[in-house]
Amino acid sequence: MYKIAVLPGDGIGAEVTAQAVRVLEAVGRRFNREFTFTEGLVGGAAYDAAGTPLPKDTLELCLASDAILFGAAGGPKWDSLPAHLRPEAGGILSLRKELGLFANLRPVMVFSSLENASTLKPEVVAGVDLLIVRELTGGLYFGKKFREKLPDGGVRAVDTLEYTANEIDRIVRVAFDLARKRKGKVTSVDKANVLESSRLWREVASAVGRDYPDVGLDHMYVDNCAMQLVKNPGQFDVLVTENMFGDILSDQASVLSGSLGMLASASLGGRTALYEPAHGSAPDIAGRQLANPIASILSAAMLLRFSLDMGKEAGCIEKAITDVLNLGYRTADLMEQGKTAVNTVEMADLIIERMLG
Ligand code: NAD
Repeated sequence: MYKIAVLPGDGIGAEVTAQAVRVLEAVGRRFNREFTFTEGLVGGAAYDAAGTPLPKDTLELCLASDAILFGAAGGPKWDSLPAHLRPEAGGILSLRKELGLFANLRPVMVFSSLENASTLKPEVVAGVDLLIVRELTGGLYFGKKFREKLPDGGVRAVDTLEYTANEIDRIVRVAFDLARKRKGKVTSVDKANVLESSRLWREVASAVGRDYPDVGLDHMYVDNCAMQLVKNPGQFDVLVTENMFGDILSDQASVLSGSLGMLASASLGGRTALYEPAHGSAPDIAGRQLANPIASILSAAMLLRFSLDMGKEAGCIEKAITDVLNLGYRTADLMEQGKTAVNTVEMADLIIERMLG
């Protein structure tokens, strides 16, 4: 019996998470596995119900579970709240910090039937299969930040970017361990020509690399990496980088797969790992069953593989998604001429049908 905490959150988070849960239930039926799903409040939904974006009950539920399936947090309704009560900073960022989830894994795979869905040329994106490993609990997003008034009446805002050698070492090791199970190549991304924290990053990455003689290591400046990701993404296997660079590069890399709605993620490092689509709550399409549930369903597959050691079950989900896309079914974000349009629930229905069929 595996205990899964389900935190749907806001906007399309709730719509896509419901479909990922249905897919996990189908895995249960097909492979005779038993899961229990317990819902918790998070984000704006939690603020509305309990006055805080991360209620204590939710944190306790997460700590008592084998894995967490998260939707998305945030939306215009809560944008004017103070930072600590906002769904993003007070909800998902706090949850990652509380759970010690320092490693964010974002795989970017281009399904062959979606090679034309990207804004990039099909020959550039064909065959891309890379993994971005982003440091998640340090760097600029968690450093000291403040504003102060200046004597001339102006104002100054300060954010600080700090990393310890230990924080760098542990995330780079995650990247090397994963590269060993893939194509055996790590690209460490930094801005060592300008930033002191990046110079430390590069030193530590090189030192860790000496413990993995079977894995190749390259260093790349983040600006060059941004360019290479759209010029020749096929060169990459595992990219490892600090929090903000990883945030930006992974959204950029989502273009390769055709839609943010195709990008899953896992956050590891603490006692309970968290799995979520890379996208947000998409207020522009929320409540209309227009969202692509595949990112959330692929996140559920990662949950099975990384937290429950169910590689075969995860593979069954991924194969079903490949088949459904090959058959020409598309949600609105990926729709093109000659394909069959389906909504959020219908896409999940088709995937479940292939899994059980
Ligand atoms: P977003 O990812 O929600 O949406 C960006 C664009 O992609 C939108 O046009 C949206 O319609 C589209 N999109 C996203 N997911 C899709 C899907 N599954 N299917 C089809 N189309 C999809 O980013 P945003 O608009 O910048 O942010 C909206 C809210 O979400 C904000 O409040 C933001 O802070 C929050 N957010 C939360 C998380 C999180 O919870 N981890 C991550 C990013 C943004």
